[in-house]
Amino acid sequence: MIGLVATTRNGRRRAAHLAQLWKDATLYPGKPSEALRGAWADCDGIVVFLAAGAAVRLAAPLLADKRRDPGIVCVDDAGRYAVALAGGHAGGANELASRVAEALGAEPVITTASESLGLQALDSFGAELGFEIEAGSDLAGVGAALVSGDTVRLVSDRRWPTGPLPDNVVRGTEDEPDENACESATARIVVSDRLVDEAGPGCVVYRPPSLVVGVGCSRGATEDEILNLLRATLRRAGLSGKSVAALASVDVKADEPGLLRAAESLGVPVRFRGARELAGIEVPNPSSVVEGAVGTPSVAEASVIAAGAELLVEKEKSRNATVAIGRLPVRGKLRLVGLGPGTDALIPPMAREALARSEVVVGLEQYVERIRHLLRPGTSIVTLPLGGEIARAERALAEAREGGSAALVSSGDVGVYAMASPALELAGEDVDVEVVPGITAAQAAASLLGSPLGHDHCSISLSDLLTPWEIIERRVRAAAEGDFVVSLYNPRSRGRDWQLGKVCSILLEHRPPETPVGIVKNAYRDDAEVSLTTLSDLRPEDVDMLTVVVVGSSQTKLVAGRMVTPRGYLD
Ligand code: SAH
Repeated sequence: MIGLVATTRNGRRRAAHLAQLWKDATLYPGKPSEALRGAWADCDGIVVFLAAGAAVRLAAPLLADKRRDPGIVCVDDAGRYAVALAGGHAGGANELASRVAEALGAEPVITTASESLGLQALDSFGAELGFEIEAGSDLAGVGAALVSGDTVRLVSDRRWPTGPLPDNVVRGTEDEPDENACESATARIVVSDRLVDEAGPGCVVYRPPSLVVGVGCSRGATEDEILNLLRATLRRAGLSGKSVAALASVDVKADEPGLLRAAESLGVPVRFRGARELAGIEVPNPSSVVEGAVGTPSVAEASVIAAGAELLVEKEKSRNATVAIGRLPVRGKLRLVGLGPGTDALIPPMAREALARSEVVVGLEQYVERIRHLLRPGTSIVTLPLGGEIARAERALAEAREGGSAALVSSGDVGVYAMASPALELAGEDVDVEVVPGITAAQAAASLLGSPLGHDHCSISLSDLLTPWEIIERRVRAAAEGDFVVSLYNPRSRGRDWQLGKVCSILLEHRPPETPVGIVKNAYRDDAEVSLTTLSDLRPEDVDMLTVVVVGSSQTKLVAGRMVTPRGYLD
Protein backbone atom coordinates (compact mmCIF):
# COMPACT_ATOMS: atom_id res chain seq x y z
CA MET A 1 0.00 0.00 0.00
CA ILE A 2 1.09 3.59 -0.66
CA GLY A 3 0.58 6.19 2.08
CA LEU A 4 0.11 9.86 1.23
CA VAL A 5 1.03 12.63 3.67
CA ALA A 6 0.21 16.26 2.84
CA THR A 7 -0.31 19.52 4.70
CA THR A 8 -0.35 22.45 2.30
CA ARG A 9 -3.28 23.16 0.00
CA ASN A 10 -1.24 22.25 -3.09
CA GLY A 11 0.06 19.11 -1.45
CA ARG A 12 -3.43 18.01 -0.40
CA ARG A 13 -4.76 18.62 -3.90
CA ARG A 14 -2.03 16.47 -5.46
CA ALA A 15 -2.39 13.80 -2.80
CA ALA A 16 -6.13 13.65 -3.47
CA HIS A 17 -5.38 13.27 -7.19
CA LEU A 18 -3.11 10.27 -6.50
CA ALA A 19 -5.60 8.76 -4.05
CA GLN A 20 -8.26 8.91 -6.72
CA LEU A 21 -5.93 7.54 -9.40
CA TRP A 22 -4.37 4.67 -7.50
CA LYS A 23 -6.39 1.92 -5.86
CA ASP A 24 -3.49 1.14 -3.54
CA ALA A 25 -3.05 4.69 -2.19
CA THR A 26 -4.46 6.07 1.06
CA LEU A 27 -4.35 9.59 2.43
CA TYR A 28 -3.21 9.81 6.07
CA PRO A 29 -4.87 12.80 7.70
CA GLY A 30 -3.68 14.79 10.70
CA LYS A 31 -0.44 16.45 11.67
CA PRO A 32 2.35 15.38 9.29
CA SER A 33 4.39 13.67 12.04
CA GLU A 34 1.40 11.58 13.12
CA ALA A 35 0.31 10.89 9.58
CA LEU A 36 3.81 9.73 8.67
CA ARG A 37 3.99 7.46 11.71
CA GLY A 38 0.64 5.91 10.77
CA ALA A 39 1.70 5.40 7.17
CA TRP A 40 5.06 3.97 8.28
CA ALA A 41 3.33 1.14 10.09
CA ASP A 42 0.99 0.21 7.21
CA CYS A 43 2.67 1.04 3.91
CA ASP A 44 5.39 -0.24 1.57
CA GLY A 45 5.81 3.22 0.08
CA ILE A 46 5.05 6.75 1.27
CA VAL A 47 4.70 9.98 -0.67
CA VAL A 48 5.15 13.13 1.43
CA PHE A 49 4.16 16.48 -0.04
CA LEU A 50 6.72 18.51 1.90
CA ALA A 51 10.05 20.20 1.37
CA ALA A 52 12.93 17.71 1.46
CA GLY A 53 14.26 19.13 4.74
CA ALA A 54 10.91 18.78 6.51
CA ALA A 55 10.46 15.28 5.15
CA VAL A 56 13.94 14.24 6.30
CA ARG A 57 13.37 15.60 9.82
CA LEU A 58 10.04 13.79 10.14
CA ALA A 59 11.32 10.51 8.76
CA ALA A 60 14.67 10.45 10.61
CA PRO A 61 13.40 9.05 13.92
CA LEU A 62 11.47 6.32 12.08
CA LEU A 63 14.30 5.03 9.86
CA ALA A 64 15.52 1.64 11.05
CA ASP A 65 16.69 -0.71 8.30
CA LYS A 66 16.93 -0.04 4.59
CA ARG A 67 15.81 -3.57 3.81
CA ARG A 68 12.55 -3.14 5.70
CA ASP A 69 11.76 0.57 5.82
CA PRO A 70 9.12 1.80 3.37
CA GLY A 71 10.43 3.78 0.40
CA ILE A 72 9.89 7.53 0.83
CA VAL A 73 9.28 9.95 -1.99
CA CYS A 74 8.95 13.65 -1.40
CA VAL A 75 7.19 16.07 -3.73
CA ASP A 76 7.85 19.82 -3.61
CA ASP A 77 4.96 22.22 -3.21
CA ALA A 78 5.06 23.28 -6.84
CA GLY A 79 4.82 19.64 -7.91
CA ARG A 80 7.94 19.84 -10.07
CA TYR A 81 10.00 17.03 -8.56
CA ALA A 82 9.35 13.58 -7.08
CA VAL A 83 12.48 12.85 -5.07
CA ALA A 84 13.29 9.28 -3.99
CA LEU A 85 14.42 10.27 -0.51
CA ALA A 86 15.16 6.95 1.17
CA GLY A 87 14.71 3.25 0.43
CA GLY A 88 15.54 3.66 -3.26
CA HIS A 89 16.17 -0.01 -3.97
CA ALA A 90 14.67 -2.40 -1.43
CA GLY A 91 12.03 0.13 -0.34
CA GLY A 92 10.98 0.73 -3.93
CA ALA A 93 11.32 4.54 -3.64
CA ASN A 94 13.05 4.85 -7.03
CA GLU A 95 10.16 3.13 -8.75
CA LEU A 96 7.61 5.02 -6.68
CA ALA A 97 9.26 8.34 -7.60
CA SER A 98 8.90 7.46 -11.29
CA ARG A 99 5.28 6.48 -10.76
CA VAL A 100 4.49 9.69 -8.87
CA ALA A 101 6.31 11.76 -11.48
CA GLU A 102 4.33 10.19 -14.27
CA ALA A 103 1.01 10.80 -12.50
CA LEU A 104 1.78 14.41 -11.57
CA GLY A 105 3.77 15.43 -14.62
CA ALA A 106 6.80 15.95 -12.37
CA GLU A 107 10.44 15.05 -12.83
CA PRO A 108 11.64 11.94 -10.95
CA VAL A 109 14.83 12.55 -8.98
CA ILE A 110 16.83 9.38 -8.32
CA THR A 111 20.11 9.71 -6.48
CA THR A 112 21.23 6.16 -5.67
CA ALA A 113 24.70 5.71 -7.10
CA SER A 114 24.09 2.57 -9.12
CA GLU A 115 21.21 4.24 -10.93
CA SER A 116 23.11 7.44 -11.51
CA LEU A 117 25.81 5.36 -13.20
CA GLY A 118 23.28 3.33 -15.12
CA LEU A 119 24.35 0.17 -13.29
CA GLN A 120 22.05 -2.49 -12.11
CA ALA A 121 21.85 -2.34 -8.34
CA LEU A 122 23.51 -5.23 -6.57
CA ASP A 123 20.44 -5.92 -4.43
CA SER A 124 18.41 -6.68 -7.50
CA PHE A 125 21.12 -8.27 -9.68
CA GLY A 126 19.62 -11.40 -11.22
CA ALA A 127 16.41 -10.95 -9.20
CA GLU A 128 14.22 -11.64 -12.22
CA LEU A 129 16.14 -14.90 -12.72
CA GLY A 130 15.48 -15.91 -9.12
CA PHE A 131 19.02 -15.25 -7.78
CA GLU A 132 19.16 -15.12 -3.99
CA ILE A 133 21.82 -13.24 -2.10
CA GLU A 134 23.83 -15.46 0.27
CA ALA A 135 23.93 -14.37 3.89
CA GLY A 136 27.15 -12.56 4.76
CA SER A 137 27.47 -10.99 1.32
CA ASP A 138 29.29 -7.66 1.36
CA LEU A 139 26.78 -5.64 -0.64
CA ALA A 140 28.10 -2.35 0.67
CA GLY A 141 31.75 -3.13 -0.07
CA VAL A 142 31.25 -4.56 -3.54
CA GLY A 143 28.66 -1.88 -4.33
CA ALA A 144 31.18 0.81 -3.38
CA ALA A 145 33.84 -0.83 -5.56
CA LEU A 146 31.43 -1.00 -8.49
CA VAL A 147 30.34 2.59 -8.20
CA SER A 148 33.84 3.98 -7.72
CA GLY A 149 34.98 2.22 -10.88
CA ASP A 150 37.31 -0.35 -9.26
CA THR A 151 37.72 -3.60 -11.13
CA VAL A 152 35.27 -6.19 -9.85
CA ARG A 153 35.57 -9.83 -10.83
CA LEU A 154 32.46 -11.75 -11.81
CA VAL A 155 33.01 -15.40 -11.09
CA SER A 156 30.44 -17.76 -12.50
CA ASP A 157 30.91 -21.25 -13.81
CA ARG A 158 28.05 -20.72 -16.21
CA ARG A 159 26.69 -17.85 -18.24
CA TRP A 160 23.42 -16.33 -17.01
CA PRO A 161 21.16 -13.87 -18.87
CA THR A 162 21.77 -11.13 -16.32
CA GLY A 163 22.09 -8.32 -18.83
CA PRO A 164 24.94 -5.95 -19.63
CA LEU A 165 27.64 -5.45 -17.04
CA PRO A 166 29.53 -2.22 -16.53
CA ASP A 167 33.01 -2.38 -18.02
CA ASN A 168 34.78 -2.41 -14.67
CA VAL A 169 33.31 -5.88 -14.13
CA VAL A 170 35.52 -8.55 -15.66
CA ARG A 171 34.50 -12.13 -16.10
CA GLY A 172 36.50 -15.06 -14.88
CA THR A 173 35.96 -18.52 -13.44
CA GLU A 174 37.17 -19.42 -9.97
CA ASP A 175 39.89 -21.76 -11.19
CA GLU A 176 40.82 -19.95 -14.34
CA PRO A 177 40.72 -16.23 -13.81
CA ASP A 178 40.04 -14.26 -16.93
CA GLU A 179 43.24 -12.76 -18.35
CA ASN A 180 41.83 -9.32 -17.78
CA ALA A 181 40.89 -10.07 -14.20
CA CYS A 182 43.94 -8.39 -12.83
CA GLU A 183 45.04 -9.21 -9.34
CA SER A 184 44.02 -5.77 -8.16
CA ALA A 185 40.41 -6.87 -8.54
CA THR A 186 39.72 -7.51 -4.92
CA ALA A 187 35.95 -7.24 -5.02
CA ARG A 188 34.14 -10.26 -6.39
CA ILE A 189 30.63 -11.16 -7.47
CA VAL A 190 30.08 -14.89 -7.45
CA VAL A 191 27.16 -16.69 -9.04
CA SER A 192 27.23 -20.28 -7.89
CA ASP A 193 25.25 -23.11 -6.33
CA ARG A 194 28.41 -24.55 -4.73
CA LEU A 195 29.09 -24.04 -1.03
CA VAL A 196 32.82 -23.53 -1.61
CA ASP A 197 31.96 -20.14 -3.01
CA GLU A 198 31.51 -18.35 0.26
CA ALA A 199 30.24 -14.88 0.93
CA GLY A 200 32.39 -12.54 2.99
CA PRO A 201 34.19 -9.20 2.94
CA GLY A 202 34.67 -7.93 -0.62
CA CYS A 203 32.43 -10.62 -2.02
CA VAL A 204 28.76 -10.98 -2.89
CA VAL A 205 27.47 -14.46 -3.59
CA TYR A 206 24.30 -15.07 -5.56
CA ARG A 207 22.58 -18.44 -5.50
CA PRO A 208 20.91 -19.11 -8.83
CA PRO A 209 17.84 -21.39 -8.94
CA SER A 210 19.87 -24.12 -10.63
CA LEU A 211 19.17 -27.34 -8.73
CA VAL A 212 16.30 -29.77 -8.94
CA VAL A 213 15.86 -32.45 -6.29
CA GLY A 214 14.13 -35.69 -7.24
CA VAL A 215 12.28 -37.14 -4.24
CA GLY A 216 10.84 -40.59 -3.77
CA CYS A 217 9.11 -41.54 -0.54
CA SER A 218 6.90 -44.13 1.08
CA ARG A 219 3.39 -43.24 2.08
CA GLY A 220 3.46 -41.27 5.31
CA ALA A 221 7.11 -40.10 5.03
CA THR A 222 7.36 -36.98 7.18
CA GLU A 223 8.35 -33.50 6.09
CA ASP A 224 11.24 -33.63 8.56
CA GLU A 225 12.61 -36.88 7.24
CA ILE A 226 12.53 -35.60 3.64
CA LEU A 227 14.08 -32.25 4.54
CA ASN A 228 16.80 -33.80 6.72
CA LEU A 229 17.80 -36.20 3.97
CA LEU A 230 17.71 -33.42 1.39
CA ARG A 231 19.82 -31.05 3.49
CA ALA A 232 22.35 -33.71 4.44
CA THR A 233 22.70 -34.76 0.79
CA LEU A 234 23.13 -31.19 -0.39
CA ARG A 235 25.74 -30.55 2.31
CA ARG A 236 27.72 -33.69 1.48
CA ALA A 237 27.69 -32.71 -2.18
CA GLY A 238 28.79 -29.17 -1.32
CA LEU A 239 25.66 -27.61 -2.77
CA SER A 240 23.59 -24.72 -1.49
CA GLY A 241 19.97 -25.28 -0.45
CA LYS A 242 19.23 -21.73 -1.63
CA SER A 243 19.79 -22.93 -5.18
CA VAL A 244 17.06 -25.57 -5.05
CA ALA A 245 14.55 -24.41 -7.66
CA ALA A 246 12.10 -27.28 -7.53
CA LEU A 247 11.40 -30.76 -6.24
CA ALA A 248 10.32 -33.46 -8.64
CA SER A 249 8.52 -36.74 -8.09
CA VAL A 250 6.09 -39.25 -9.52
CA ASP A 251 2.44 -38.26 -9.85
CA VAL A 252 1.11 -40.91 -7.45
CA LYS A 253 2.80 -38.78 -4.76
CA ALA A 254 0.90 -35.66 -5.77
CA ASP A 255 -1.08 -35.74 -2.51
CA GLU A 256 1.72 -36.95 -0.23
CA PRO A 257 1.50 -34.52 2.73
CA GLY A 258 5.15 -34.79 3.88
CA LEU A 259 6.45 -34.11 0.37
CA LEU A 260 4.09 -31.18 -0.20
CA ARG A 261 5.01 -29.66 3.15
CA ALA A 262 8.73 -30.09 2.48
CA ALA A 263 8.33 -28.18 -0.78
CA GLU A 264 6.31 -25.52 0.96
CA SER A 265 8.90 -25.02 3.65
CA LEU A 266 11.60 -24.68 0.96
CA GLY A 267 9.33 -22.29 -0.92
CA VAL A 268 9.63 -24.26 -4.18
CA PRO A 269 7.14 -26.09 -6.40
CA VAL A 270 7.01 -29.88 -6.86
CA ARG A 271 6.78 -31.10 -10.44
CA PHE A 272 5.10 -34.46 -10.85
CA ARG A 273 5.51 -36.82 -13.78
CA GLY A 274 3.73 -40.05 -14.65
CA ALA A 275 5.31 -43.42 -13.68
CA ARG A 276 5.29 -44.50 -17.30
CA GLU A 277 7.37 -41.51 -18.40
CA LEU A 278 9.84 -42.02 -15.53
CA ALA A 279 10.08 -45.76 -16.24
CA GLY A 280 11.37 -44.96 -19.73
CA ILE A 281 14.40 -43.10 -18.36
CA GLU A 282 17.71 -44.84 -17.90
CA VAL A 283 19.13 -44.28 -14.40
CA PRO A 284 22.27 -45.40 -12.56
CA ASN A 285 20.44 -47.03 -9.63
CA PRO A 286 17.13 -48.65 -10.63
CA SER A 287 15.20 -50.66 -8.01
CA SER A 288 12.79 -53.51 -8.59
CA VAL A 289 11.17 -52.86 -5.18
CA VAL A 290 10.33 -49.30 -6.24
CA GLU A 291 9.08 -50.60 -9.59
CA GLY A 292 6.72 -52.98 -7.80
CA ALA A 293 5.38 -50.17 -5.60
CA VAL A 294 4.91 -47.28 -8.02
CA GLY A 295 5.43 -48.68 -11.53
CA THR A 296 8.85 -47.15 -12.27
CA PRO A 297 12.25 -48.51 -11.21
CA SER A 298 13.35 -45.00 -10.27
CA VAL A 299 11.57 -41.95 -8.90
CA ALA A 300 14.31 -39.65 -7.54
CA GLU A 301 16.97 -40.10 -10.25
CA ALA A 302 14.47 -40.43 -13.11
CA SER A 303 12.62 -37.27 -11.98
CA VAL A 304 15.87 -35.31 -12.04
CA ILE A 305 16.75 -36.48 -15.55
CA ALA A 306 13.17 -35.98 -16.78
CA ALA A 307 13.39 -32.35 -15.61
CA GLY A 308 16.15 -31.88 -18.16
CA ALA A 309 18.83 -31.68 -15.46
CA GLU A 310 22.28 -33.24 -15.34
CA LEU A 311 22.40 -35.78 -12.49
CA LEU A 312 24.96 -34.49 -9.97
CA VAL A 313 24.20 -36.65 -6.94
CA GLU A 314 22.88 -40.18 -7.31
CA LYS A 315 20.14 -41.54 -5.10
CA GLU A 316 20.60 -41.22 -1.32
CA LYS A 317 18.25 -43.00 1.05
CA SER A 318 16.81 -42.65 4.49
CA ARG A 319 14.20 -45.02 5.96
CA ASN A 320 11.22 -43.73 4.01
CA ALA A 321 12.66 -41.33 1.46
CA THR A 322 15.15 -41.06 -1.40
CA VAL A 323 16.61 -37.99 -3.01
CA ALA A 324 18.81 -37.34 -6.04
CA ILE A 325 20.09 -33.94 -7.18
CA GLY A 326 20.55 -32.49 -10.62
CA ARG A 327 21.68 -29.20 -12.14
CA LEU A 328 19.33 -27.55 -14.61
CA PRO A 329 20.59 -26.00 -17.83
CA VAL A 330 20.57 -22.20 -17.86
CA ARG A 331 17.73 -20.79 -19.92
CA GLY A 332 19.03 -17.85 -21.88
CA LYS A 333 16.81 -15.04 -23.01
CA LEU A 334 15.95 -13.85 -26.49
CA ARG A 335 14.05 -10.58 -26.74
CA LEU A 336 12.46 -9.69 -30.04
CA VAL A 337 12.04 -5.96 -30.10
CA GLY A 338 10.27 -3.66 -32.55
CA LEU A 339 11.74 -0.16 -32.70
CA GLY A 340 8.74 1.60 -34.26
CA PRO A 341 8.78 3.58 -37.49
CA GLY A 342 11.36 6.22 -36.68
CA THR A 343 11.22 8.58 -33.75
CA ASP A 344 12.29 7.61 -30.24
CA ALA A 345 8.95 8.82 -28.96
CA LEU A 346 7.32 5.78 -30.57
CA ILE A 347 9.57 3.27 -28.83
CA PRO A 348 7.50 2.00 -25.90
CA PRO A 349 8.94 1.71 -22.38
CA MET A 350 8.69 -2.07 -22.65
CA ALA A 351 11.04 -2.04 -25.64
CA ARG A 352 13.46 0.32 -23.88
CA GLU A 353 13.52 -1.97 -20.87
CA ALA A 354 14.12 -5.02 -23.08
CA LEU A 355 17.03 -3.27 -24.79
CA ALA A 356 18.53 -2.12 -21.51
CA ARG A 357 18.43 -5.67 -20.16
CA SER A 358 20.11 -7.28 -23.14
CA GLU A 359 23.77 -8.01 -23.14
CA VAL A 360 23.96 -8.37 -26.91
CA VAL A 361 21.89 -6.48 -29.47
CA VAL A 362 21.67 -7.91 -32.97
CA GLY A 363 20.21 -6.06 -35.94
CA LEU A 364 20.81 -4.15 -39.12
CA GLU A 365 23.30 -1.36 -38.62
CA GLN A 366 20.85 1.42 -39.48
CA TYR A 367 18.38 0.23 -36.82
CA VAL A 368 20.94 -0.40 -34.12
CA GLU A 369 22.41 3.06 -34.77
CA ARG A 370 19.00 4.54 -34.08
CA ILE A 371 18.81 3.06 -30.58
CA ARG A 372 22.48 3.02 -29.55
CA HIS A 373 21.76 5.71 -26.94
CA LEU A 374 19.15 3.47 -25.30
CA LEU A 375 21.71 0.70 -24.64
CA ARG A 376 23.50 0.36 -21.30
CA PRO A 377 27.26 0.64 -21.11
CA GLY A 378 28.74 -2.80 -21.59
CA THR A 379 26.18 -3.93 -24.20
CA SER A 380 27.79 -5.52 -27.22
CA ILE A 381 26.41 -4.77 -30.63
CA VAL A 382 26.34 -7.16 -33.54
CA THR A 383 25.38 -5.75 -36.90
CA LEU A 384 25.12 -8.16 -39.79
CA PRO A 385 24.27 -7.00 -43.31
CA LEU A 386 20.91 -6.77 -45.04
CA GLY A 387 19.82 -10.09 -46.45
CA GLY A 388 21.41 -11.98 -43.58
CA GLU A 389 18.08 -12.55 -41.78
CA ILE A 390 18.83 -16.15 -40.90
CA ALA A 391 22.37 -15.28 -39.84
CA ARG A 392 21.02 -12.53 -37.57
CA ALA A 393 18.37 -14.78 -36.05
CA GLU A 394 20.92 -17.59 -35.55
CA ARG A 395 23.42 -15.21 -33.97
CA ALA A 396 20.94 -13.87 -31.44
CA LEU A 397 19.69 -17.38 -30.69
CA ALA A 398 23.23 -18.67 -30.20
CA GLU A 399 23.76 -16.05 -27.48
CA ALA A 400 20.53 -17.12 -25.75
CA ARG A 401 21.37 -20.82 -26.08
CA GLU A 402 24.66 -20.17 -24.30
CA GLY A 403 22.76 -18.64 -21.40
CA GLY A 404 23.12 -15.02 -22.52
CA SER A 405 20.51 -12.35 -23.05
CA ALA A 406 20.18 -11.09 -26.60
CA ALA A 407 17.83 -8.66 -28.28
CA LEU A 408 17.06 -9.03 -31.95
CA VAL A 409 15.67 -5.79 -33.30
CA SER A 410 13.58 -4.77 -36.30
CA SER A 411 12.04 -1.51 -37.34
CA GLY A 412 8.30 -1.10 -36.86
CA ASP A 413 6.85 -4.17 -35.23
CA VAL A 414 9.23 -7.11 -34.92
CA GLY A 415 6.46 -9.53 -35.86
CA VAL A 416 5.35 -7.79 -39.08
CA TYR A 417 7.46 -8.71 -42.12
CA ALA A 418 10.38 -8.84 -39.74
CA MET A 419 12.71 -10.90 -37.57
CA ALA A 420 10.31 -12.51 -35.09
CA SER A 421 9.14 -15.21 -37.49
CA PRO A 422 12.52 -16.56 -38.61
CA ALA A 423 13.79 -16.37 -35.03
CA LEU A 424 10.82 -18.28 -33.63
CA GLU A 425 10.93 -20.85 -36.43
CA LEU A 426 14.46 -21.62 -35.29
CA ALA A 427 14.07 -21.25 -31.50
CA GLY A 428 13.52 -24.35 -29.42
CA GLU A 429 12.07 -24.78 -25.95
CA ASP A 430 15.51 -24.32 -24.42
CA VAL A 431 15.41 -20.52 -24.52
CA ASP A 432 12.97 -18.03 -23.05
CA VAL A 433 11.57 -15.64 -25.60
CA GLU A 434 9.91 -12.30 -25.04
CA VAL A 435 8.29 -10.57 -28.01
CA VAL A 436 7.91 -6.83 -27.47
CA PRO A 437 5.30 -5.20 -29.72
CA GLY A 438 6.12 -2.11 -31.71
CA ILE A 439 4.26 0.26 -33.99
CA THR A 440 4.17 -1.10 -37.50
CA ALA A 441 4.51 1.11 -40.59
CA ALA A 442 0.83 0.74 -41.53
CA GLN A 443 -0.29 2.09 -38.15
CA ALA A 444 2.25 4.88 -38.26
CA ALA A 445 1.18 5.84 -41.78
CA ALA A 446 -2.50 5.58 -40.86
CA SER A 447 -2.14 8.03 -37.99
CA LEU A 448 -0.44 10.55 -40.27
CA LEU A 449 -3.25 10.14 -42.81
CA GLY A 450 -6.21 10.23 -40.40
CA SER A 451 -8.09 7.01 -39.70
CA PRO A 452 -7.97 4.92 -42.86
CA LEU A 453 -7.84 1.65 -40.85
CA GLY A 454 -11.12 2.38 -39.04
CA HIS A 455 -12.79 -0.65 -40.58
CA ASP A 456 -11.62 -4.01 -41.94
CA HIS A 457 -8.17 -3.81 -43.40
CA CYS A 458 -5.23 -5.95 -44.40
CA SER A 459 -1.56 -5.62 -45.25
CA ILE A 460 0.08 -7.05 -48.33
CA SER A 461 3.78 -7.01 -49.07
CA LEU A 462 4.59 -6.61 -52.74
CA SER A 463 8.05 -8.09 -52.34
CA ASP A 464 8.22 -11.16 -54.53
CA LEU A 465 11.69 -12.16 -53.35
CA LEU A 466 10.32 -14.93 -51.13
CA THR A 467 6.67 -15.06 -52.24
CA PRO A 468 5.79 -15.90 -55.87
CA TRP A 469 3.99 -13.06 -57.66
CA GLU A 470 0.96 -15.27 -58.41
CA ILE A 471 0.28 -15.63 -54.69
CA ILE A 472 0.64 -11.90 -54.08
CA GLU A 473 -1.72 -11.18 -56.97
CA ARG A 474 -4.27 -13.69 -55.68
CA ARG A 475 -4.25 -11.97 -52.28
CA VAL A 476 -4.64 -8.54 -53.87
CA ARG A 477 -7.65 -9.84 -55.84
CA ALA A 478 -9.18 -11.32 -52.67
CA ALA A 479 -8.64 -8.04 -50.77
CA ALA A 480 -10.12 -6.11 -53.70
CA GLU A 481 -13.14 -8.35 -53.81
CA GLY A 482 -13.54 -8.27 -50.02
CA ASP A 483 -13.37 -4.44 -50.09
CA PHE A 484 -10.60 -4.34 -47.48
CA VAL A 485 -8.55 -1.21 -46.92
CA VAL A 486 -5.10 -2.37 -48.08
CA SER A 487 -1.73 -1.26 -46.70
CA LEU A 488 0.98 -2.10 -49.19
CA TYR A 489 4.41 -2.81 -47.68
CA ASN A 490 7.56 -3.02 -49.83
CA PRO A 491 5.53 -1.40 -52.62
CA ARG A 492 8.30 -0.69 -55.09
CA SER A 493 12.07 -0.96 -55.46
CA ARG A 494 14.55 -0.37 -58.21
CA GLY A 495 14.25 -3.91 -59.49
CA ARG A 496 10.49 -4.17 -58.91
CA ASP A 497 8.82 -1.33 -60.73
CA TRP A 498 5.69 -2.74 -62.43
CA GLN A 499 4.01 -4.52 -59.49
CA LEU A 500 2.40 -1.46 -57.89
CA GLY A 501 0.75 -0.40 -61.17
CA LYS A 502 -0.62 -3.91 -61.60
CA VAL A 503 -2.01 -3.89 -58.03
CA CYS A 504 -3.79 -0.57 -58.67
CA SER A 505 -5.42 -1.92 -61.84
CA ILE A 506 -6.69 -4.99 -59.96
CA LEU A 507 -8.10 -2.81 -57.17
CA LEU A 508 -9.71 -0.51 -59.75
CA GLU A 509 -11.75 -3.47 -61.02
CA HIS A 510 -13.57 -3.44 -57.67
CA ARG A 511 -13.57 0.12 -56.34
CA PRO A 512 -14.10 3.57 -57.81
CA PRO A 513 -11.24 5.53 -59.47
CA GLU A 514 -11.63 8.34 -56.90
CA THR A 515 -10.92 5.94 -53.96
CA PRO A 516 -8.52 7.84 -51.64
CA VAL A 517 -4.95 6.60 -51.42
CA GLY A 518 -2.42 7.77 -48.83
CA ILE A 519 1.28 7.66 -49.60
CA VAL A 520 3.51 7.88 -46.54
CA LYS A 521 7.25 7.91 -46.88
CA ASN A 522 9.62 7.76 -43.89
CA ALA A 523 6.79 8.01 -41.38
CA TYR A 524 7.89 9.63 -38.10
CA ARG A 525 11.39 10.31 -39.38
CA ASP A 526 12.87 13.75 -40.02
CA ASP A 527 12.25 13.52 -43.75
CA ALA A 528 8.68 12.21 -43.53
CA GLU A 529 6.42 12.89 -46.55
CA VAL A 530 2.69 12.41 -46.54
CA SER A 531 0.56 12.81 -49.63
CA LEU A 532 -2.94 11.97 -50.78
CA THR A 533 -4.06 10.88 -54.21
CA THR A 534 -6.68 8.60 -55.74
CA LEU A 535 -6.51 5.08 -57.05
CA SER A 536 -6.63 6.21 -60.66
CA ASP A 537 -4.10 9.07 -60.20
CA LEU A 538 -1.49 7.17 -58.18
CA ARG A 539 1.90 7.44 -59.86
CA PRO A 540 4.09 4.45 -58.95
CA GLU A 541 7.21 6.59 -59.52
CA ASP A 542 6.25 8.65 -56.40
CA VAL A 543 6.63 5.53 -54.33
CA ASP A 544 9.76 3.75 -53.09
CA MET A 545 10.86 1.12 -50.58
CA LEU A 546 10.62 3.53 -47.66
CA THR A 547 6.94 4.08 -48.34
CA VAL A 548 3.69 2.51 -47.24
CA VAL A 549 0.72 2.96 -49.57
CA VAL A 550 -2.70 2.87 -47.90
CA VAL A 551 -5.50 2.26 -50.39
CA GLY A 552 -8.99 3.04 -49.06
CA SER A 553 -11.99 0.74 -49.36
CA SER A 554 -15.07 1.74 -51.34
CA GLN A 555 -16.26 3.49 -48.14
CA THR A 556 -13.09 5.48 -47.40
CA LYS A 557 -13.45 9.24 -47.87
CA LEU A 558 -11.60 12.48 -47.29
CA VAL A 559 -12.99 14.70 -44.53
CA ALA A 560 -11.26 18.07 -44.16
CA GLY A 561 -8.24 16.64 -45.93
CA ARG A 562 -8.07 13.59 -43.65
CA MET A 563 -8.50 10.04 -44.83
CA VAL A 564 -11.37 8.36 -42.96
CA THR A 565 -12.83 4.87 -43.27
CA PRO A 566 -16.20 5.17 -41.48
CA ARG A 567 -17.27 2.69 -38.86
CA GLY A 568 -20.90 3.38 -39.68
CA TYR A 569 -22.01 5.35 -36.60
CA LEU A 570 -22.92 8.45 -38.59
CA ASP A 571 -24.77 6.70 -41.44
N1 SAH B 1 8.72 -4.54 -39.47
C1 SAH B 1 8.40 -3.38 -40.27
C2 SAH B 1 8.16 -3.70 -41.73
C3 SAH B 1 9.37 -4.14 -42.47
S1 SAH B 1 9.07 -4.37 -44.20
C4 SAH B 1 7.17 -2.71 -39.66
O1 SAH B 1 6.46 -3.31 -38.86
O2 SAH B 1 6.91 -1.56 -40.04
C5 SAH B 1 9.73 -2.91 -44.84
C6 SAH B 1 8.64 -2.03 -45.39
O3 SAH B 1 7.96 -1.41 -44.31
C7 SAH B 1 9.13 -0.87 -46.22
O4 SAH B 1 9.34 -1.26 -47.58
C8 SAH B 1 7.98 0.11 -46.13
O5 SAH B 1 6.93 -0.29 -46.96
C9 SAH B 1 7.52 -0.13 -44.70
N2 SAH B 1 8.09 0.86 -43.75
C10 SAH B 1 8.87 0.60 -42.70
N3 SAH B 1 9.13 1.73 -42.00
C11 SAH B 1 8.47 2.73 -42.63
C12 SAH B 1 8.32 4.14 -42.38
N4 SAH B 1 8.92 4.73 -41.34
N5 SAH B 1 7.55 4.85 -43.22
C13 SAH B 1 6.94 4.26 -44.25
N6 SAH B 1 7.05 2.95 -44.53
C14 SAH B 1 7.79 2.18 -43.73
